[in-house]
Amino acid sequence: MPSRKFADGEVVRGRWPGSSLYYEVEVLSQDSKSRLYTVKYKDGTELELKESDIKPLTSFRQRKSGSSSSSPSRRRGSRSRSRSRSPGRPPKSIRRSASQHAEIKDKKEIVEINLCPLKQSGNSISRYNGKPDRIGRNDVSHRNIQDKPYLSQESSYLATQYSLRPRKEEIRFEEIISQEERNVVKEPKSVKIFEITATEPEDLEFGGGFGAFSIMIGLPVMLFMLLLMCREKDPSLVNLPPPLPPLASFWETRVFGVCLLWFFLQALFHLLPVGKVVEGTPLYDGRRLKYRLNGFYAFILTSVIIGISLYWGIELCYVYDHFLQFAVAATVFSVALSIYLYVRSLKASKEELSPGKSGNIVYDFFIGRELNPRIGHFDLKYFCELRPGLIGWVVINLIMLLAEMKVQQRETPSLAMILVNSFQLLYVVDALWNEEALLTTMDIIHDGFGFMLAFGDLVWVPFVYSLQAFYLVSHPNEVSWLFASVIIALKFSGYTVFRCANSQKNAFRKNPDDPNLAHLKIIHTSSGKNLLVSGWWGFVRHPNYLGDLIMALSWSLPCGFNHILPYIYVIYFTILLIHREARDEHQCKKKYGLAWEKYCQRVPYRIFPYIY
Ligand code: NDP
Repeated sequence: MPSRKFADGEVVRGRWPGSSLYYEVEVLSQDSKSRLYTVKYKDGTELELKESDIKPLTSFRQRKSGSSSSSPSRRRGSRSRSRSRSPGRPPKSIRRSASQHAEIKDKKEIVEINLCPLKQSGNSISRYNGKPDRIGRNDVSHRNIQDKPYLSQESSYLATQYSLRPRKEEIRFEEIISQEERNVVKEPKSVKIFEITATEPEDLEFGGGFGAFSIMIGLPVMLFMLLLMCREKDPSLVNLPPPLPPLASFWETRVFGVCLLWFFLQALFHLLPVGKVVEGTPLYDGRRLKYRLNGFYAFILTSVIIGISLYWGIELCYVYDHFLQFAVAATVFSVALSIYLYVRSLKASKEELSPGKSGNIVYDFFIGRELNPRIGHFDLKYFCELRPGLIGWVVINLIMLLAEMKVQQRETPSLAMILVNSFQLLYVVDALWNEEALLTTMDIIHDGFGFMLAFGDLVWVPFVYSLQAFYLVSHPNEVSWLFASVIIALKFSGYTVFRCANSQKNAFRKNPDDPNLAHLKIIHTSSGKNLLVSGWWGFVRHPNYLGDLIMALSWSLPCGFNHILPYIYVIYFTILLIHREARDEHQCKKKYGLAWEKYCQRVPYRIFPYIY
């Protein structure tokens, strides 16, 4: 039996969960299996710590004030007056002056945290193992499962070793556990610190395998219908379905070659050693991948190439003339990429897989199995998210502007076309400028890379998002300056909400101590990450979606009110974001448990204030 370093009754210093702070604790016992020490703080709080989180008293220099020996919750008693009680906060926060503490206290919500050891079940210690808690508790009633506060896989780094929940949450957790204990015949469970498990069939999103299959067929069909309709003189819905051109006209090898050239050119730009390298959010195994942020440079280089092409008189309207073939070529490419991604994911290690995968082949092909597929340092998902499709979208818009002038024999583009082009250009430039924000999105953190994102990024974005510009080429709409001013005002109000909300959250996630955010209220969660509950995120639960939808409407309005076709984007986007919000809500409930419920009570509306 390996020898233990600290004896029962020994007074040592134990690390505060998730921080670098050490407090005086007494060793009570050590679990022979897990090798975790149960330690007791001065206020009676008991906690389990790893040996590496315990240090002998002698390894610390004594501070005169003696404050360092106070128990965490006593310390919190004074520190809780500071801006955050998060155990993960750096020590500098405890060096704030008393007046600062008092001042900040009034602005911030305080949720007292109670520390206690994890629940013992028989001889083994129950730990969150990455599975939803229902796994291994099949016999627990549905009601219990629903009520149970979840811990996320992400938060499991803390949760695997410590039970950190607000006191109320802890009481409720205890109640639920004891209720479960009454109902459950326990099966022996192996102790696992961490494991990425497959999504249960009942948890599958998008209607499971059947839904995924329908979407994979439905989306390309819908795309081609939209593109064919857009070319019709009268693109009313009553004229559905549009006449089909001969099948042979859907394919042109040269077009496919241009698509490949575009993709690899963007890949080349991405590989250039310019732009800063940053770390992504921690993965489930604690690693942090590195990403090079050079999307904006890629955009500049692309603009230079487009400028040179125009100067040399290269006929860019070729893209407009072969728009359908381009969409087909991009679809073929995205399907081929999805197959490649699926096949390579079969060889990926468990740690590389996304938590969304299920074991259902169709569903996994759609949602993606591998979280961050990389060829060397080249991250395929990250690259596809913002480069070929997004930059391609604005290039297509520009080509539509040129096509409008050519088709309608105009010397200058229409005001409607200028509005659509500049609004969407702003959106794309904003995304590239704030590229780092991508690293905290669901797409990067949660979703694997499969057909959903490959088709979405490489086909849907460039060919559906450019529909307004495509529509205006053959359906001119004169916009008065007065109406244009209203649309511009709408666009900028949407942009303000979108940008401010996203920036506020990103700044908070990057540095919860950011002095610019000191006025905002927060709710503490058991994962160590906190939730903003005032400012933009106290207005509705997804202010960024609200702003995005306002902007989407402003992109459609320049096309007038003759047809619904240019509004398809805003309709589709509303459905997408409502569904996305529900997915995110589900994830956040798992991650934050009762703290999330509390947030929902404080901020009842999801996207649209007083409506939804
Ligand atoms: P969000 O950027 O809204 O991220 C959601 C995450 O934010 C949550 O999972 C949670 O993660 C964190 N969060 C939620 N509430 C709070 C809070 N109160 N305080 C602090 N953190 C909170 O979601 P998306 O990734 O879906 O969207 C990113 C942007 O991309 C949005 O602006 C969206 O409109 C846009 N978008 C555009 C699309 C397009 O096609 N044009 C498609 C999809 C999105 P955690 O706590 O783990 O940090």
